[in-house]
Amino acid sequence: MTLDFGTLYVVATPIGNLMDMTERARQVLANVNWIAAEDTRETLHLLNHFGIGAPRLVAYHDHNELSVVPRLLTALESGQTVALVSDAGTPLLSDPGYRIVVAARERGLAVVPVPGACAAICALSAAGLPTDRFLFLGFPPRTSPQRQTWLTAVAQESGTLIVYERAARVLETLADVDAILSERRVVLAREMTKRFETFLIGTAAELITRVAADADQQRGELVMLIAGRATADDALATEAERVLKILLAQLPLRQAIDATVQITGIKKNVLYKLGLELSASKTGEGI
Ligand code: SAM
Repeated sequence: MTLDFGTLYVVATPIGNLMDMTERARQVLANVNWIAAEDTRETLHLLNHFGIGAPRLVAYHDHNELSVVPRLLTALESGQTVALVSDAGTPLLSDPGYRIVVAARERGLAVVPVPGACAAICALSAAGLPTDRFLFLGFPPRTSPQRQTWLTAVAQESGTLIVYERAARVLETLADVDAILSERRVVLAREMTKRFETFLIGTAAELITRVAADADQQRGELVMLIAGRATADDALATEAERVLKILLAQLPLRQAIDATVQITGIKKNVLYKLGLELSASKTGEGI
């Protein structure tokens, strides 16, 4: 693989299952001049696993960013290539890398993403919560009063909320979610892509009971997803579906729809589509 001179590659690595390493990521890491790694020992394991030898590793983390960024920029400006990796997943998302990417952009240097695993998107893709709008919140604050203020600030958000957390602290965070966003649907996506992957779904109160009763659920890493605030449209759609279901049991499709339009005020074409779906599921059509 030929790399572009003077380019910073932002390379995603697996979040557990090494088979999720992309071929492009492997080739970039095998061919760059330097690999800037959050933890060089972690990255060394990864490189060894993929048979990538002679690593040119540079430690890059929150505590040495200020001194390392100028060195990396000098390397890039002299035409060398640099790959940025974190311990797992996509760099910059609750991981180091922001300063070097901003500095490279400010100097007009090329920054190329090499996409792959990202815990937030991985969780969202399988949680069964709305994906059309979401808000990534990263790690919650440490103390309960701070977490409650933090949750209150996003209580009006209608998109799905995505929170990074360690399973060992999930009960404390769930208690605050229960206090501030009590009726919301919550999904705990734990140990994704690993042997003991689990997805738990319920309200925060229900999940507190389940997690407290199972020590395994308090181990490892997890992403917590919290349903956004239900909008008036959502509530109306739920009500329309309820009414239409009742009427469809007694009336032909057209009459059931006309009556539901009168009761709920929802547009006929929207209800017609829903009515067809409900009738099909009643008669067992489709898969
Ligand atoms: N930048 C990484 C990414 O976006 O994938 C995340 C790094 S952040 C320091 C680590 C957090 O990501 C964990 O505390 C957890 O919330 C989440 N995470 C990482 N790997 C995970 C996994 N396999 N299953 C569930 N959550 C995971």
